[in-house]
Parts: sequence; structure tokens; C-alpha cells
Amino acid sequence: MILVVGGAGYIGSHINKMLCGKGYQTVVFDNLVYGHREAVIQGILEEGDLADSRRLNEVFEKYEIDTVFHFAAYAYVGESVGNPAKYYNNNVANTLHLLDAMVQHGVRNIIFSSTCASYGVPDTIPITEEMPQRPINPYGASKLMVERILSDYHKAYHLNYCCLRYFNAAGADPDGKLGESHNPETHLIPLVLAAAAGDREDIQVFGTDYPTKDGSCIRDYIHVADLADAHFRAMNYLKNGGGSICLNLGNEAGTSVLEVIKAAQNITGQNIPVKLCGRRPGDPPILVGSAEKAKELLGWNPQYGDIQTILRHAWAWYCGRRY
Ligand code: UDP
Repeated sequence: MILVVGGAGYIGSHINKMLCGKGYQTVVFDNLVYGHREAVIQGILEEGDLADSRRLNEVFEKYEIDTVFHFAAYAYVGESVGNPAKYYNNNVANTLHLLDAMVQHGVRNIIFSSTCASYGVPDTIPITEEMPQRPINPYGASKLMVERILSDYHKAYHLNYCCLRYFNAAGADPDGKLGESHNPETHLIPLVLAAAAGDREDIQVFGTDYPTKDGSCIRDYIHVADLADAHFRAMNYLKNGGGSICLNLGNEAGTSVLEVIKAAQNITGQNIPVKLCGRRPGDPPILVGSAEKAKELLGWNPQYGDIQTILRHAWAWYCGRRY
């Protein structure tokens, strides 16, 4: 059985659906603080918090778990700057409870949701896995700490891990059953679509004076279904004895904020009012990753690489969203 910790959240719910679709039995462990009960459309839902070791151990005792996917984390960069205790307690200390339960119950394989925010402001683009990790906010730092802990647990307790460093997760389930829904919402694409739908007055562009082609920030948007596929391959890589690794997951292509808005106007057929604003603190100008290592080691090849497809799926979800 597979344990999907944080499986009611945006990325976790897509991976849970994909695993169930392939015939795996899953248990989702989620405190439903930011996750949605409705997003667990298959598998068993065990409500619980990683802070509660007793509850966690109950779940490990109840099911025969052989692999853990770990998505449960707070992920608001701005909030992490103002309230680092919340991030280090949940993302780091509570993850230790999970890892200790794994060690105690002899569960060996973990796929960990890491982030390109662990690199901070890169010296060169595209970012490769070997480049220095110098996070500029507590969120990125908390993820990097877990990467370091995993490396130590691997050496001491023979835990096998795969840290997947996502670039900007985007899009929605191509079947339209799952999608992105955060409360509060801070991410560009859902906000752009809300403006297209008339649910928001406008979309604010944070920064127009960056050293980029049009002055707005550039990001590497990767479809959540492509992320799901990479997770499946990472699990098999570990199970086949591939060894512990850290891999970037991105499209290796940069799209600016203004380009996202323009593409969204085309896809939705709606005029999207734009408000040009100052920079958002903590935003690196350009984040684009090299995914060569994931392609080589996992045989991964993103299927939904273009921003139009990402926006089309996100828009279909937005228009008929269930949570
Ligand atoms: N962004 C923006 N307006 C918004 C939200 C985001 O201009 O209302 C920009 C943000 O500054 C960044 C990019 O869009 O350059 C992607 O931001 P998001 O929060 O989606 O992801 P992040 O890159 O912070 O993980």
C-alpha cells in the first residue's frame, strides 16, 4: 500500500488519482487544513496531523505501507517570512515524525516534494541540481532542511529517498476531476483565470522592471499531470534499486507573467484587466530549470509542455470547479 501524506492538496491529489488509476491501493493522510476532502476521489482518507505521532503510528500499524509520498507542507512564501515558526514546525519538525514512523515500521522508500525555491537566486540559468542551494525565505529553507535530513536518514537508517524539486506547478487534471484551489489564492495562473471569469477586478503584475524580455518575471510552468507521471517513475526508480537522488522537474522553458496573461486571454476569449504594480519582495527575476537528469534517470518526458495546454486544462477546471 502507498501512503500519500498531504494527498488532499493540489499536487498530492493528482498523484493519488494517478496511482489509483494504475491499480495501486492508497491511503491519504491529511489534516484538511488546506486540503480538500472532495479532492480525495479515490483511495482511503485517514484524517490526521503529522504533529500527532500517535495518530500517525496508528496508520502505519493499520496498513502495510511500502512507499510514502510526502506533500504535506505549508507553501506560502510571503507568510513564511512573517511566521517562520509555522514553517519550521510543520514542514521540518512534523516531517521528522513521519520519517521516524517510517524507520520504526521498516518502510524504506519516500518521494519528497521539494522545490526550486531551495536554490534562491541562481547565478545562471537553467538551474541544474548541482548548483548551490541558498534559499532566500523560510519556506525554501524548510524544504532544504528536509532534503539534508533525508540524506542523513539514508546513511544512518537506510531510508531511500527521491527529492523532486518542482518548478511552478500549474494546470489541472486533463479529465477535469481535480484542479488547483487554494485559500487564500496567491498563485499567478488561478488569479489570472479568476480575473478572466470576472471573479476578480484585475490581475496585478508584480514588477515590470526586471531584466527580462518584457520586464516581468519569468517562471518555468510545469503541468501537474507531468509532475504526477514523474512521481510514478521516481517510485519505480527507488523500488528498482536506483538509489537516493534529487531531481528538478520543470519544462526547461521560461514564460513571463505578461506572456501568461496574454495566453490566458486567447484561451479564455476574455479581456483580462491588468494592473501594473511594484515588485513582490523575495521574487527572483528568472527561474528556469534543467530537467535533463530526470529525463535521463526516469525516462520522463513532459506531455503537456506548452503554456496553452496548461491554461486550457486550468480554465476547464476553473469553469466547473467542485471545491
Ligand atoms: N505574480 C504576479 N501577480 C500575482 C501573482 C503572482 O505578477 O497576482 C507573479 C509573481 O511575482 C511571480 C510569478 O507571477 O513572478 C509566479 O508567481 P506564483 O506565486 O504563481 O509562483 P512562485 O513563482 O512565487 O512560486
